[in-house]
Amino acid sequence: MKKITIAIDGFSSCGKSTMAKDLARAVGYIYIDSGAMYRAVTLYSLRKGYFTPEGIDTEALEKDMPAIDISFRLDPETHLPQTCLNGENVEREIRGMEVSSHVSPIAALGFVRRALVRLQQEMGKAKGIVMDGRDIGTAVFPDAELKIFVTASPEIRAQRRYDELKAKGQPASYEDILKNVQERDYIDQHREVSPLRKADDALLLDNSLLTIEEQKAWLLEQFKRVTKG
Ligand code: C5P
Repeated sequence: MKKITIAIDGFSSCGKSTMAKDLARAVGYIYIDSGAMYRAVTLYSLRKGYFTPEGIDTEALEKDMPAIDISFRLDPETHLPQTCLNGENVEREIRGMEVSSHVSPIAALGFVRRALVRLQQEMGKAKGIVMDGRDIGTAVFPDAELKIFVTASPEIRAQRRYDELKAKGQPASYEDILKNVQERDYIDQHREVSPLRKADDALLLDNSLLTIEEQKAWLLEQFKRVTKG
């Protein structure tokens, strides 16, 4: 069967990565979490002290970009991709609130986006890939055969992220998470470079009231429809 490219975009914390991961596993495709790449660059900038009271030291970060290596390694036990920054597994660290509350301004930088989009296009060259993010159907793979744009209410999304962090034993406050979700929505939709928007040919999925199983079934149906056609 001919392999296709699947782009899943949408707001923060609406379960894009869970659905992208599940779909990739079900159809035997590679899964790439593009948000993890922006998070890795954010962690790098935090460690280097590039966030200053005057703003981000973009000059220093731009100079470092060629030396920032981001890759994914499969965990031998869970078979889930682990994000690596210059060879170090940073999967856990990039999911914490420190990185979450600094990532949107990093993702709004043109030179960061250009470098990561290039890397993402390289990763998807052979097709057979499910990539999730904010601009996958609009900027990274505008020709993707299946595009999905996911949304859910900010309160439901904050509750999901809260449950996820709590389950991992990471400290979290629901109010802080809700504020973070709303701030990220705003910055992601209003930035100059590749703002978050639904591609004209993307299918809209509001999963506020869907169970994971219902969502899975819907996604598989869309996949079968496109690959048969
Ligand atoms: O998907 P996730 O919430 O992990 O993404 C973290 C942040 O990275 C988002 O809030 C957004 O600012 C940015 N992002 C982006 N473009 C993508 C993926 C993520 O701007 N393709």
